[in-house]
Amino acid sequence: SAKQSGRGVLKFYDANMSLELNGTYQLEKALAEALDKNQFCLHYQPIYDAKKSQLVQFEALIRWDHPERGRVSPIDFIPVAEESHLICEIGEYVIRESLEFIQSLSSKATTSVPISINVSGRHLMASGFIEYIEEQLSVYNIDGTLLKIEVTEGVFLHDTELCAEVMRRLKGLGIEISVDDFGTGYSSLYYLKSLPIDTLKIDKSFVKECHDHAEGYTICESIIKLAQGLALEVIAEGVETVEQAQTLIDWGCYQHQGYYYCYPVDEVSAVAMLNDSVKETSSDTAEI
Ligand code: C2E
Ligand code: MG
Ligand code: MG
Ligand code: MG
Repeated sequence: SAKQSGRGVLKFYDANMSLELNGTYQLEKALAEALDKNQFCLHYQPIYDAKKSQLVQFEALIRWDHPERGRVSPIDFIPVAEESHLICEIGEYVIRESLEFIQSLSSKATTSVPISINVSGRHLMASGFIEYIEEQLSVYNIDGTLLKIEVTEGVFLHDTELCAEVMRRLKGLGIEISVDDFGTGYSSLYYLKSLPIDTLKIDKSFVKECHDHAEGYTICESIIKLAQGLALEVIAEGVETVEQAQTLIDWGCYQHQGYYYCYPVDEVSAVAMLNDSVKETSSDTAEI
């Protein structure tokens, strides 16, 4: 079936695996169990401001440690989860876990930065989404400005009015909205002026080419100009080399995320990194 040839399912299937999660149904069952048995965790990848030399936020990225299969990439299970209501439960887990992390920073870290979470369009548009966010912000006693939400362009294609309403309510809570994988979706640019968007995250496929005169080079530059012209923030994701970083800086794009700076790390390392970045910043200042 069409579903079974989906990206997530195929990659997950391995004939030699003793455990065959080779159908949407099996994978969905395993995901429901994963929620039950706490097999998910979040890793955090720093986003740096290259101008300030400072860690300015983290992106939360889900990880699944399957007892027999080992670590499973979100690329292999999020698309399957998105086929059902499971994506909402996974999304709610991500909301709770990231708020718990933000809360823990107030005792473990000397500073705080916003945490950016990925929210699937299906979850964002589901009834009760905004109420859940409101409720959990108050449970953890967290200010909405410490949470950011990343959505992909696909969400704008559906119920535009509902989408706008949800976004306005998020903004009302102080939550900023980023467009993830910008430039790879199928939606028009019209939404950039009609929806309350704060940030464009340039897709890594463009950033990858941004040091040679390939197509990605021109696309990156244009996205940065577009963001600057519309007074939006812009983040380059997938920055892997110093050349890419330098080119982006030359164009005025200072917020970078990628392996050149740091891989996604677990919670403990993320806290250490945040504390280190404060030390570095204060010693920098002391030298002046
Ligand atoms: P994304 O939101 O665009 O996240 C960025 C992905 O790029 C992450 O992959 C990250 O590890 C990877 N990455 C970061 N720096 C580099 C780099 O320099 N080079 C390359 N090649 N890759 C880099 P990851 O963690 O495997 O996540 C893949 C995708 O799965 C995410 O793409 C997002 O669409 C989805 N995802 C991850 N966590 C969640 C989640 O909690 N909820 C939802 N709904 N989706 C999630
Ligand atoms: Mg925890
Ligand atoms: Mg993202
Ligand atoms: Mg992305």
